[in-house]
Amino acid sequence: MASTARGGPEQRPYSHWDRARLSVVVPIGAIVAVAIVCIVVAVLSSARRADEVAVSHEQQMLNATLATYGERLLRDLEGLAHSDGALRNIGDAFVRPWTESHIDAWSESVTDHDAVAVFDAAGAPLYAIGPSKTRPAQWLDSARPELAEVLAALRGDIAAGTSAFRLDHGHGYGGIALLRPLLGRPAIIAAAAVARAQNDPAGRPVLVSVKFVDGNLIAALGGQLRLANLRLLAKDEPADSDYVDAIHAAGGGTLARFAWTPKQPGSDIVHSVAPFITVALAGFALLAAFVLRYMRRTAAAIAAGESRLRFLAMHDPLCGLPNRIYFGERLEATLAEVRGGGGNAAVYCIDLDHFKDVNDTLGHNIGDELIRNVTLRLSNTLRGGDLVARLGGDEFAVISQIAHEPERVLTLATRIIKAICAPYSVNGHNIVIGASIGIAIIDANCAGAADIMRYADMALYRAKNEGRNRACIYDAEMDAALSNRKLLEGDLRDAIAHNGLRVAYQPIVDKTGEKIMGVEALCRWTHPVRGEIPPTEFIALAEHSGCIIELGAFMLRQACLDGNAWPGLSLAVNVSPLQFRRADFVDVVERILEETGFDPTRLELELTESVLLGNVDSAEAAMLRLKALGVRIALDDFGTGYSSLLYLRRYPFDKLKIDRSFVHSIEKAADAAAIVHAVVGLGRGLGMKVTAEGVETADQHLFLRAAGVHFMQGYRFGAAMPADEITSRLSAQAGPGPARPAALAG
Ligand code: C2E
Ligand code: CA
Ligand code: CA
Repeated sequence: MASTARGGPEQRPYSHWDRARLSVVVPIGAIVAVAIVCIVVAVLSSARRADEVAVSHEQQMLNATLATYGERLLRDLEGLAHSDGALRNIGDAFVRPWTESHIDAWSESVTDHDAVAVFDAAGAPLYAIGPSKTRPAQWLDSARPELAEVLAALRGDIAAGTSAFRLDHGHGYGGIALLRPLLGRPAIIAAAAVARAQNDPAGRPVLVSVKFVDGNLIAALGGQLRLANLRLLAKDEPADSDYVDAIHAAGGGTLARFAWTPKQPGSDIVHSVAPFITVALAGFALLAAFVLRYMRRTAAAIAAGESRLRFLAMHDPLCGLPNRIYFGERLEATLAEVRGGGGNAAVYCIDLDHFKDVNDTLGHNIGDELIRNVTLRLSNTLRGGDLVARLGGDEFAVISQIAHEPERVLTLATRIIKAICAPYSVNGHNIVIGASIGIAIIDANCAGAADIMRYADMALYRAKNEGRNRACIYDAEMDAALSNRKLLEGDLRDAIAHNGLRVAYQPIVDKTGEKIMGVEALCRWTHPVRGEIPPTEFIALAEHSGCIIELGAFMLRQACLDGNAWPGLSLAVNVSPLQFRRADFVDVVERILEETGFDPTRLELELTESVLLGNVDSAEAAMLRLKALGVRIALDDFGTGYSSLLYLRRYPFDKLKIDRSFVHSIEKAADAAAIVHAVVGLGRGLGMKVTAEGVETADQHLFLRAAGVHFMQGYRFGAAMPADEITSRLSAQAGPGPARPAALAG
C-alpha cells in the first residue's frame, strides 16, 4: 500500500494540458506551421518566377534590339544600293570617283557603319572603306574570305530564300543582315545588291556594310534598354553574379557573351515585404506563445480545480480525512492487492463512545474540534502505509497492512484506543471519550469489500457489548451470533408485546442484614425455546433495537403495581440511559405513578453514570423534576464508569450503589477495600446513602457493615425472586411484631 495515513487520491495536474496539447495545440500548430511554410515557399517561388520572366524579357529585348540594329543597317545600305546614282555609277558600270565621293558622303551621314565595301558580281572587291574611315586594302584582304561567305549567303538567300545566319532580311531586291564573327569579333554584317528588280540581283555588284558589336555599341544598347551594367564579356571573363546571355555561332561555339545585372522584381518585392512578413511572423509567434501560455494556464487551473473538486468529493470537510467513498475505493484496491499476493491487511472500524454526549452537552463546535483532535491522534498513531478515513459522525476506519498473528492486529487496536481515550482539552473543557474497535482481517481468500465492512461492524458490535473501550476481531461465529441476535431481537419484541417478560425482585436489606428495606426490580425473560436469557444479554439487545423504551415502561408499571402490595418498602427500578435521555421520560414516570397510584416517595430510579455523559443541563433538569415529584435517584454500578467527583457534586443523587466487582474484591485486594472505605466516606460526606451490591459472604457483610454501608444487596440476603415470594418474606419478617419494616431508605 502506497498511500500515507491521510493520503489523498493521486493527482494528475497536467492531464488537461496534455489532452489539450494532443487534441488542439499540436494539430493547430502543425496546420499553422504548414501554412506559414506554404506561404513563404509560394512567395519565394513567385518571386523567382517573376525574376525569371523579367530576365527572359530583358534577353528578348536585347536580341530584338540587336536585330533591329541589323535591320536599320540593312535599310541604310539598301537606301544607298537602290539609289539612282548607285544603280548608274556602280550597278551599270563602276565609276570609282562617284563611288568614292558618294560612299564617303553617305558613310559620313550614317555613322553607324564601321566599314563599307563594294564587290562586283563575281565577288571581287571594287572598293572599300575600313573602320575609322581608312581605306586599308589590308583590312579588306583579311576580311575577304569571311565576307565572301556573306556574299554567298546573300546570293544563296536570294536563290533559296532562307539563311541560317540571317538576322533579318531586307525588303529590296536582295538584302541581308547577319550577326557573325568577322576577324574574330562579333559583327553585324549587312549586304544589299545594287539592283533594279527582284530577279535582277544575281548578276549585280553588292554593297556590304559592317558594324562590330563592341563595348561602345553594347553600352549604348544598355543605356537604351536600361539594362544595368550591360557589357560584352571577353572570352572566359567571369560575369560575377550577373546574368549571361550567349549568342552562338552557326557552326557551333560561342559568338559573343553579354552580361548585365538583371532586374529582379520578385526579389525586390520579397526584400521590401520581408520586414513586414518578419514582423507579422514575430507577432504571430508572440500571439501563439500567448495563446499557448493562456491555454496552459487555463488547463492548469482546470486541473487544479478538478483535483480540488476530487479532493473535496473524496475527503471529509471537517477533518480533511478521506471519506467513505475514498475509503471504499482504497478497500477495493487493497483487496485486489492482497488477492494478488501482496500480504495481508486488516480493516479497523472505530466507534467513539460518548461522542454524541459531548456534542449534545458542549455543542457542535466543541464536538467538531474534538473530531479534529481525534483525527490528529489517529494519524499520529498509524504508520506511513496505513489509511485512516472518517466514515460518518463518530465512525472512523483504518486499513492497515498487518502481519499474520492476531496479537499484532490487536496491538494496533490497543494503541488506537489508548490514544483516543487519553483526556482532551478542548476550549477549556476536559473531555474523556472511549473507543470500540471491530477488526476484519483481509487475506487472500477473504470476501468482498461489503462483507469485510459487515464483518468489522459485527466485531465492533461485539466489542461494544463486551464493555466498550476494547477491540474484537471478527470470526465466523459472529455471523451466526448476528443472525442469532436478529432472531432474538424479534422474539424480545414479541415478548414485550405479549406479556412474555416478568419482574423479579431482589431484597435490599439494612446493614444488619435482617430487615428488608426495599427491593430492586429486575427484568426476567424466559425464552420459549432457549429458556432463561440473562438480562445482561437481552437488555443490551433491547437497547440496540430501541425496544428498551417499552421494556422500561413495562418494568416501571409492573413494579409499581406489585410494589403497592408492600407498603413502606422502597422500590428500585433500573432506567436505561436511552430511556432517561428521552424528553418525555419524566412525563412517563409521572403518568405511571398516577395510573398505578404508587407513592412516588417510595420509588427509587437507578441510573448509571453513562446517563450523565449526555446533555448535562437536560439531565439535571429531569432529575430535579423527578425529585420534585418525590422520586429518589440512585447512582448504580458506582466505580465502573468514570466516577467523576464532579458528577457526584453536580447531580442530586440520593444514593450510591457500590458495584459488586468491588465487593467481590474486598477480601482479595487491599485497594478494593480502601476504595469501598473511600466511597462510603464520600457518600456520607455528600449526604448520600450507600448500598453495597453483590454481597455473597458473611465476611463481605461484616466488612461492609464496619465500613459504614447503609444498605446491602446480594445472594447472601436473597437473589431476585417473584413478587409473591417477597410478600411471604415480608410477612415472615413481620412475624409477631410490626408488619411494616422499621425504616425506609432515604
Ligand atoms: P444491576 O442493576 O446491577 O442489577 C443487579 C444485578 O446483580 C442483577 O443481575 C442481580 O441478579 C445481580 N446480583 C444480585 N446479587 C448478586 C450477588 O450476590 N452476586 C452476583 N454475582 N450477582 C448478584 P441481573 O438480574 O442479571 O441483571 C443484570 C443487569 O441487567 C442489572 O444490573 C441491570 O443493569 C440490568 N437490568 C436488569 N433488569 C433491568 C431493567 O428492568 N431495566 C434496565 N434498564 N436494566 C435492567
Ligand atoms: Ca440496578
Ligand atoms: Ca448494580
